[in-house]
Amino acid sequence: MCGVVGVYCNDENITSKITYYTLFALQHRGQESAGIATFQNNMIHLHKGMGLLSEIFNQEILNRINGNYAVGHVRYSTTGESKIENAQPLLVKSKAGMIAVGHNGNLVNYWDLRTRLENEGRVFLTDSDTEVIAQLLSNYLLKYDIQETLAKLNEELVGSYTLTMLINDKVVGFRDPLGFKPLCVGEVDFGYVIASESCAIDAVGGRLIRDVKPGEAVVIENGDIEFIKIVKSSRKALCVFEYIYFARPDSIIDGKSVYEARHNMGRILAKESYVDADIVSSIPDSGITASIGFSQESGIPYLEALIKNRYVGRTFIMPEQKLREFSVKLKVNAVRKNVEGKRVVLVDDSIVRGTTSRKIVEMVRKAGAKEVHFRVGSPPIIAPCYFGIDMSTREELIASSRNVEEIRKVLNANSLAYLSLDGLLKAVGFKKKDLCLACLTSLYPVEVPGENCYS
Ligand code: 5GP
Ligand code: MG
Repeated sequence: MCGVVGVYCNDENITSKITYYTLFALQHRGQESAGIATFQNNMIHLHKGMGLLSEIFNQEILNRINGNYAVGHVRYSTTGESKIENAQPLLVKSKAGMIAVGHNGNLVNYWDLRTRLENEGRVFLTDSDTEVIAQLLSNYLLKYDIQETLAKLNEELVGSYTLTMLINDKVVGFRDPLGFKPLCVGEVDFGYVIASESCAIDAVGGRLIRDVKPGEAVVIENGDIEFIKIVKSSRKALCVFEYIYFARPDSIIDGKSVYEARHNMGRILAKESYVDADIVSSIPDSGITASIGFSQESGIPYLEALIKNRYVGRTFIMPEQKLREFSVKLKVNAVRKNVEGKRVVLVDDSIVRGTTSRKIVEMVRKAGAKEVHFRVGSPPIIAPCYFGIDMSTREELIASSRNVEEIRKVLNANSLAYLSLDGLLKAVGFKKKDLCLACLTSLYPVEVPGENCYS
């Protein structure tokens, strides 16, 4: 899970700031580290660091990294630890020139590729799969143009890879042929923005041109923009979790409004699993849109049972067990007045490990709720994600080894219901064959060792 951007700006003194703003709109996609690379006079300026954008950048730093072309990245690690070496964009200098790469996704065959390259004498400075991509890129660019290079790259990579790249004085965006992770392009007064989500284009007053299609590249050169088909594919595997949880609801991804999809999830959930109750509340923030849909469809009034602390971005988890107990309480608190003596429906977008959900049910009970009914805007997550979402083992997933009744008991809810898979498909408005549903079905759209796959 990460966010990527690429920017072309006709005023080289504001490019880094525009890039910062677009990344700021994507901060929800990763809070571990961030970076911006710009190209100017045959040089790449790079600044990256650990933490939130506001902790890494300031006016003075942004003034220093000039140029008309930029890429940026916010990171939430999947492959590779959370440390500065693995922060992106990743820079490679070679005979082919200067390359900076930002990657959203995860390579399934990372270790195979890395081992092969190491046997060829290559040296790696990070343990991030993005470095493999950067090395392969610089290799191919010695012999081929950008179009052929991306086609070659695609033959090597298995997994998900949405990329924004600085290749000397060009800004390039590329989406893998199954299109796991989103990428779109917008026009702004001063140039163009390529970004993971359309909310980043909105943030700088731009207009969404369109999504980059799976298997397609977009190249910005000399202020001109060109879309180039790189790989043909008869199917897609758009990540359904973008619609469920990950993307911002004000984004439009692959032509679908995330807000509308989530609202539909709540509506359909209410049809599928209505329960007599006094109030419907969300578990903020991720459950808000679905809970509004649930309330409207069921006719049960919407009232906030919980309030989220606005300043919680990344909670700093204290290692001491005694303090760990507070981790959820710091994030949300129950509104006693709204729940006391009431039958409460709590709606959330998803349950992953079940730990937060259990604590929240307990919190609402302690605040005096008579009954707590849990409703989830997605089907049970039963299988790990190998394509960029931080759910890597079955053991950590509460639904991988328990049925709904067993989960209800763990959560100590009066009732528990999940959205059906059909309901989810209706809500997002895509055909099953166009989505990656692996975390919900345990069927994988590309070869993953030890898993059931389809093609
Ligand atoms: P759980 O009860 O599984 O511990 O937590 C459920 C909550 O985790 C839900 O509110 C959901 O929005 C949130 N969630 C779902 N996926 C992710 C993720 O990949 N990262 C984080 N930080 N939260 C997630
Ligand atoms: Mg949440």
